Parts: sequence; structure tokens; C-alpha cells
Amino acid sequence: MHAVVIRRHGDPDVLEPAEISRPVPGRGEALVRVSAVSVNAFLDVSNRAGRVPFARYDFPHVLGSEHAGVITDYGPDTDAPLPVGSVVVVRNAIFCRRCDMCAAGNSEACRGLHIIGVTRPGAYAEYTTVPVENLRELPPGCGPTEAAAMAVNGPLAHAQLRAAGIDDTRTVLIQGAGSASGTMAAVVARALGKTVFGTARGGERTVRIAGLGIYDAVVDSTAPDAVEEIRALTEGRGVDVVIDNLAAPPLWTLGMAVLGPRGRVVTSGAKFGGTVEVDVRALYTFSQRLIGVRSASGQDHAAFWKLVETAGVRPPIDSVLPLDEAARAHRHIEAGQNIGRVVLTVGEPGA
Ligand SMILES: [Zn+2]
Repeated sequence: MHAVVIRRHGDPDVLEPAEISRPVPGRGEALVRVSAVSVNAFLDVSNRAGRVPFARYDFPHVLGSEHAGVITDYGPDTDAPLPVGSVVVVRNAIFCRRCDMCAAGNSEACRGLHIIGVTRPGAYAEYTTVPVENLRELPPGCGPTEAAAMAVNGPLAHAQLRAAGIDDTRTVLIQGAGSASGTMAAVVARALGKTVFGTARGGERTVRIAGLGIYDAVVDSTAPDAVEEIRALTEGRGVDVVIDNLAAPPLWTLGMAVLGPRGRVVTSGAKFGGTVEVDVRALYTFSQRLIGVRSASGQDHAAFWKLVETAGVRPPIDSVLPLDEAARAHRHIEAGQNIGRVVLTVGEPGA
């Protein structure tokens, strides 16, 4: 089958088109003909560069975690949850279902987690084999490109908001408002009835993101009066929830400065480092909380896909490119130029 592989870690040029063997589904697995696969800044781009500490694979390796496609076969002795020919989105996280976290229903913190494209071959290819538990039929009106674009970030956004307390939240500030995860979190928070603000770097990018119409306001985080501007948006109360997957020190400080009493900072990433200052005195004085969310649980996946069906949630998509242009897609994301998701299509467009 056709695929894009890496034979070593390195810059985007290590992504090369290749012909490799089609995988054979084992017991409990489905064979999926891939239609679309997202390019994830961490699971794909950092992974390609060799910067994902929990990655485990041999070269040549097929990247690609979040994907959608068509079921074409099942492994032996496998109970088929959907007929062959069904169009599905594939959950990228494979839970062990044996550890104490899984047993307690907290699969997002599974101790034996596998991730498609990170600890097993991924979807920069015509076919994948995936556990049948990871299949979900696409809701009506949602195509594979859209589904691949929100397969990880949609449920993750729901998990972040659930961890922060959906009912206790009126206002959400999303740091890195143009990122794939940020734009998706904005769409999900709006669908849940929240007022959503975002921060972005620089005036031009701020204006472009505001033009998406998915934020109530977007503030240039580099402006000298950014804190005052955000405080004014909340009539001085401060925001209830800050979502920060960047962990860039100045941005973190800005987030803490605009966080209201009982406010929560939720993080699922540390793109710009991960070491920030926390004013513990402010934290306890205002009864604030810092919350880490690794990934979404099964409960978040179900709740998110219900929003897709009932609230018309769709992902902001930056661009759609053919699979063989994976290197170009990686460069675009590494340069921080995307607003929303970059998706690769495999085979015939729209198939
Ligand atoms: Zn587990």
C-alpha cells in the first residue's frame, strides 16, 4: 500500500512516500481504509522530530494518529460492531482496560496507554488496523475530513471543560487561540453556552482569528494592556477558566493575572517549555486550582460526538493537503502559521 514513512527522526524532509505491506487485522481489530488524517503538532510533528518521550516504534515508522475512513475487513473471531463499508472516525488512544485507572472508569489516566502513530503504526497510509473499540460511526452530515480534524481535540476540549466544571463556568480564556486545540476548544465551549475569549500573538494574527467568528473577543497577548483588556471584557470579575496548552512563561503569567476567584487553569500541553512561575499566595488567597488533563475519557468522546450531532459542532480547518505533501504540512505547523487543523487526505478526495 502507499504510505508516508520516516526512517529516522529529523526535520520535515524525513517524511517520504513509500510502498509498504498492507497491515493484517488481528483478533479484535478492524482494517480501515484511511480517508483523512490530521496533522497533530505534538503526536505527529514533535514525534517526527523525536521529541515525544513516550514514543515507541521501529523504523521505518508510519506517523498519523487522528484519522477517519471506511471499514473494509475484520480480524478473525472478531465481533463486528459495524458493517463493512461503514464510515468511521478512529479514537487514537487505546486503553489497557486492565489497570486500576481503567477499572475505576478513569481511562484517560490509563497506566498502559497506547496511541496510534506513537506506540504503533499510524495513518499516513492507505490502511490501518485498529481495535474495534476505537471505531465510531460518523454522525450524519459529518465527513471524514471534518471528523479527522476533531477526533482528538474535540473530546479533549470536552475533557478540559469537564475537569474545570462545566456548570461552574461562564467565561473561558483560551491561550493560543489560533491553534488546532485552541480553536476546537472555543467551538466546544461555545456549544456548551460559554462566553469565550482568546489570546494570540500579534495584531495581524489576532484579527485573522477574530474573523473566524468562534470567539467573543480575541486579545493580542503582546499588547502592553492585554491584562486590562481581558479584565474589562469580564467587567473586572476575571475569567472562570483559562485553557493553556502552551506553558510559555509570559502567557502563563497573563493567564494567572486575569483568573478570577475560584478560577481554574487547565493544561494539556507544554509546547513552549513547561516550567512556569506560580504565585502560590494568589492561588490559595483566591481559591484557584491548576488542573492537568492528559487526554479524554470514553465519557468525553461520547459527550463530544453528541455535540457534533445535536449542536452542529464542526472543526476550524486551516488547510487540506494530499498525503504526499505531509512534509509541507509539517513545515506549515512548525512555523506556527496554521489557524485550526491541517488535514491530509488519502486516496481519492472525499472518498
Ligand atoms: Zn489502563
